[in-house]
Amino acid sequence: MINFNNLAKIASGEIVLSEYSGDIKYLITDSRKSFFAGGGIFFAISGERHDGHEYIKSLYDKGVRQFVVERDIDISGLEGSNLLKVRSSLAALQALARKHREQFNIEVIGITGSNGKTIVKEWLFQLIVPHKRAVKNPHSYNSQIGVPLSVWQLNEQHEVGIFEAGISEPGEMEKLEVIIQPTIGIFTNIGSAHDAGFNSYKQKIQEKVRLFKNAVEVIYCKDHEEVDQHLANKGFSWGHHVDSDVRIIDVMHDERETVVNIRFGSDFSFRIPFVDKASLENCLHCIAYMLFKGYDFIAIQEGISKLHKVHMRLELKKAIHGSYVIDDVYNNDLAGLQIALDFLSHQKQHERKSVIISDILQSVSDQEKLYAQVSELLKAANVTKLVGIGSALMHYKVLFDIEAEFYETTSDFLQNHDLTTFREETILIKGARTFTFEKIVRALEEKIHGTQLEINLDALTNNLNFFRSRMKPETKLMVMVKAFAYGSGSLEVANLLQFHRVDYLGVAYADEGMILRKNGIYLPIMVMNPSEDSFEKLYQYQLEPEVYNFNIIKQLIAFLGNRTMRVHIKLDTGMRRLGFEEGDIDSLVDLLEKHRNIEVKSIFSHLAGADEAEHNQFSQEQAAKFKSLSDRVMKHLHRTPLRHLVNSPGIVRFPEFHFDMVRLGIGLYGLEASKQEQHRLQPISRLKTIISQIKQIKKGETIGYSRKGLAKSDMQIATIAIGYADGFSRAFSNGVGEVWLNGKNAPVIGNVCMDMTMIDITGIDAVEGDEVEVFGEHLTIIDAASRINTIPYEILTNVSQRVKRIYYME
Ligand SMILES: *Cc1c(COP(=O)(O)O)cnc(C)c1O
Repeated sequence: MINFNNLAKIASGEIVLSEYSGDIKYLITDSRKSFFAGGGIFFAISGERHDGHEYIKSLYDKGVRQFVVERDIDISGLEGSNLLKVRSSLAALQALARKHREQFNIEVIGITGSNGKTIVKEWLFQLIVPHKRAVKNPHSYNSQIGVPLSVWQLNEQHEVGIFEAGISEPGEMEKLEVIIQPTIGIFTNIGSAHDAGFNSYKQKIQEKVRLFKNAVEVIYCKDHEEVDQHLANKGFSWGHHVDSDVRIIDVMHDERETVVNIRFGSDFSFRIPFVDKASLENCLHCIAYMLFKGYDFIAIQEGISKLHKVHMRLELKKAIHGSYVIDDVYNNDLAGLQIALDFLSHQKQHERKSVIISDILQSVSDQEKLYAQVSELLKAANVTKLVGIGSALMHYKVLFDIEAEFYETTSDFLQNHDLTTFREETILIKGARTFTFEKIVRALEEKIHGTQLEINLDALTNNLNFFRSRMKPETKLMVMVKAFAYGSGSLEVANLLQFHRVDYLGVAYADEGMILRKNGIYLPIMVMNPSEDSFEKLYQYQLEPEVYNFNIIKQLIAFLGNRTMRVHIKLDTGMRRLGFEEGDIDSLVDLLEKHRNIEVKSIFSHLAGADEAEHNQFSQEQAAKFKSLSDRVMKHLHRTPLRHLVNSPGIVRFPEFHFDMVRLGIGLYGLEASKQEQHRLQPISRLKTIISQIKQIKKGETIGYSRKGLAKSDMQIATIAIGYADGFSRAFSNGVGEVWLNGKNAPVIGNVCMDMTMIDITGIDAVEGDEVEVFGEHLTIIDAASRINTIPYEILTNVSQRVKRIYYME
């Protein structure tokens, strides 16, 4: 076991405090995640935006006693702790993991490549686990921080480690190589897409293969010529190529499975329970590894036939009686449970948080200790109630001192537990595959048929970080979550924003703010359209109105009496929408001086053409006017308010006008309105529906209302379950709009109906029930907007409330 003094040497650090004598058991890199305090060590990493050093005191309060820091910090109040000062906390974390790895003289498989890393890792784990005690990265923890945390899990029990590594720029793989120290490698493939971090395709390969510097053998596909050039001298290859070690003779597939015949010494025929190309490739990597290691054909085939799709995302779904379920039903180990519990504890929609878990299927010597840790994690995540399913959990039930129930099997639970007792709560459902927890999810979730909007919370985070990278660290950030967060769901989005510590939220109406407050959002909230009848609500829920004219401010003064309220003063500098004008300033100042209970929290204005260069001159004038008018107001105020002017495109185009705060809207939702940096943002949503029926149409027949669709020749059409009432505009009728299915675009034929639309699928392979993308990965919102002469804002906010939202994280 490595202790603090060893770490000081390994990381060449300076010991500032040495008052704690426990071991280093757990590594903590993010103060917001759940962790084991006793034996935990916190690495304070200062990024561009987040500075880990700010959280040391709060971690101390939670019981952490070991810290690694990068600068001098105030040590008062850290009695009984160890504190190490190093040049880089990240480097210290990596050095520690590397040292840990060196203690184990076992086989370690290192996996990298552009695609398929996580799937190959998960499948290999599934294949190896019946034969050997194995450990792997949780989810896709393959980064500079994720890899050290993954490798740290290694213990004396393990016979093989399976770790994936991902990089985004040169220099990174070298660091991961020394932590993983693979004895054998797998190179999955190399994507043709240009990665921003690399100069060339060749450089990308060269960097990735650095993972295999000391590996004795690397498994790869010989059919990739460039990869072959780099790995031929120490490779164990598979492929169609005649010189492949495992040679593919032929591949056949039907609707459910693929049969692949290979030659390796003699001929073998494997049946793979997938039909898509990517799964076949991923599977062949696994087969090649197993053959290379000498596993016999029958054992391999048995493992392969049990492989299942890897679900890498945690999904948040609406459930019965106002609840949500987090659906994570494919495996359950401690590291994965920790990640899922983090996701659960970010959800502030409900006070009550329940967890339904199965036995933990993981190789450990001390089961009791394992379940004690599970109990500790549940407590750290503030779980209200536990449902434990499985004989091990039954056996150790005394270890859990929260409200808990235990069942031997999943069907025991389903038969004996009244599911209607789940109400207004968030329920994490996490179980090992064999427990078939999908039955529980099915029983609890709100049924969704047809149309749904999927929202990728990781993409939201990516976009948030992009805009933050364009701001000075001290500039504050308000995020607009009006209009149901531009259609994406205000509660879920606000939750994520609160987790990422934005400074302010903005909504249009008091009711929107009230709903956020009732669901655990405690960030300050600005309300842009207050009305007299909403004042009581504003006051009760601590919402902060925008005041834009004398009428509203006088009503507010009358309402408040002696009470105080924070407000935001809106100035009209050229938008000509709402706001006080130049001639109003003197009277406004008078009023504010007389009524000190109106606390001016901020002064702001709005640019009319921030996204377009042709209006630059006008934007400059607006900014100048804003500065001079707000200066005049501020001279008379007793507290300094925040000033803010720019929206999303303004953040990108006018760094000089950020003032104290910026207001981010559309950019968070994946659209860069100035069009300069669209490639830095990720689309956050995907609207999809299904085919309800397929019909063969004869030449000359007409389709739909007003008989607008005309079959010019024999054709095949599909009716899909989306219409203008779902937000699929009627302007998409008659070929203006397209949808995407099974790799092809299909135009709308005839008029869009209220709940349904007909599309032309002539020449497209499709069956009833197939999924259809309306916008998302293949059809962009930008494209959809331009087809009907509108802006992406409208496409986003039009998706109606009856369309179910699904949120996920990878
Ligand atoms: C909606 C709104 C924003 C956000 O605008 P985007 O163009 O979506 O970034 C900013 N400020 C005000 C006053 C708004 O109403």
